[in-house]
Amino acid sequence: MDAKEYVENIIEKVKEKDPGEKEFHQTITEVLTSLIPVIEKEPKYMKNKILERITEPERVIIFRVSWEDDNHEIHVNRGYRVEFNSAIGPYKGGLRFHPTVNLSILKFLGFEQIFKNSLTGLPMGGGKGGSDFDPHGKSDNEVRRFCEAFMSELYRHIGPNTDVPAGDIGVGGREIGYLFGAYKKIVDRFEGVLTGKNYNWGGSLIRPEATGYGATYFLTEMLKSKGTDLNGKKVAISGSGNVAQFAAKKVTELGGKVITLSDSKGAMSLPDGLNDEIWQAVYETKAIKHGRLQEVAEKFGLEWHAGKKAWEIVDSVDIAFPSATQNEIDLNDAKRLVNAGVMAVVEGANMPSTLEAIDYFHENGVLFGPAKAANAGGVAVSGLEMSQNSLRLQWTADEVDKKLHDIMVNIYKASATYAEKYGHAGNLLIGANIAGFVKVADSMIDQGIY
Ligand code: NDP
Repeated sequence: MDAKEYVENIIEKVKEKDPGEKEFHQTITEVLTSLIPVIEKEPKYMKNKILERITEPERVIIFRVSWEDDNHEIHVNRGYRVEFNSAIGPYKGGLRFHPTVNLSILKFLGFEQIFKNSLTGLPMGGGKGGSDFDPHGKSDNEVRRFCEAFMSELYRHIGPNTDVPAGDIGVGGREIGYLFGAYKKIVDRFEGVLTGKNYNWGGSLIRPEATGYGATYFLTEMLKSKGTDLNGKKVAISGSGNVAQFAAKKVTELGGKVITLSDSKGAMSLPDGLNDEIWQAVYETKAIKHGRLQEVAEKFGLEWHAGKKAWEIVDSVDIAFPSATQNEIDLNDAKRLVNAGVMAVVEGANMPSTLEAIDYFHENGVLFGPAKAANAGGVAVSGLEMSQNSLRLQWTADEVDKKLHDIMVNIYKASATYAEKYGHAGNLLIGANIAGFVKVADSMIDQGIY
């Protein structure tokens, strides 16, 4: 069987085994197809059945989370932890609280996380978890009770050397605080079991900024390869959460002009770019008050486009920086962006572009920075938070930022180098997938059959 047939066969088997897991099928198709060049050149991966093994999570935990709201009504949600691969370190990946959460989405995120974590160069395996709980519109006390109920089961499966969760959509500093408090109370140990913690109790400086800053550093390297930089570039950013906020901040700092932000209710135009005052209002509205972006648009007299995506409100754009959620750029959006003159797309969110959109960008010569490379800064600083916890000390913001910058430059270089080595120069998606894969696959072979 040749490499292409082998890969197609595995993709079909995954689809047959878990029908209906469309997000998981999408990532399996993207990643495995891009690995064909390395499977072809290195027979050891087929011989050791690495693709069969790597597509099967090591462990999946599903549990009931019962909690009581402020009116003493009882609610039941479903909790998950997908412990996907521990070949190069403890499972590591975020927790997502969002009504759309299901096993398919968490398997897709956990699978991506394996390669992303490998790319950072730090010893972290891949995992992901969360719940279909929706923190929107809940009081702080309700969120706390939910987090305590969630942790009352999760605690037995995690630990600083086993599995170290972090935040993701719907899980920010507040939730990490409640989750950490609950864990500490149950196990009676103060240990680095979660990342994204507040600085006062073991967090790392620059962790909140890390994904947005890191993706912007990655973007800068992409632009450098074309002899240009961010100065004066029009950047359409989607989302207004953690990633979008700090991407917008760093892009502006480096001379780019942020022309959109959005949330799940619509998109906001920023014809004159972002300034400190608007940024602060976005941060306070979204990160502190958990409110709606429309309030910021109204406060500053900016045009609000209800129900629209960021890509639908721009006529002329240099860079698209999707930072909201999966599949937010489909083929139509990709066509619209190319017509509007986009030269680069950098994925702040996980899998924001559909497979068709990615192909369209590549066919049209658009520089494409894939999520698992571009947004690895968050988990990289989470890794640095784990190191600081083990050392029982905390580095300065400058030290962490410098390490983050170096890691992002290295990820860019590894992606570009592997793309070239396997005959796809300039295709950072193929390069990142192969670079991330080789380290994990070789480690699996070293460790025997499990
Ligand atoms: P947040 O919850 O802080 O923000 C998410 C943003 O996306 C909000 O503006 C939210 O709007 C919007 N959004 C969510 N769902 C949808 C939807 N279906 N349609 C349109 N907009 C939507 O999450 P993060 O910023 O942390 O995460 C954003 C993305 O980045 C995710 O894909 C995440 O997996 C990825 N990521 C995050 C990392 C991190 O360190 N935080 C690390 C690596 C990747 P609203 O407020 O209305 O819900």
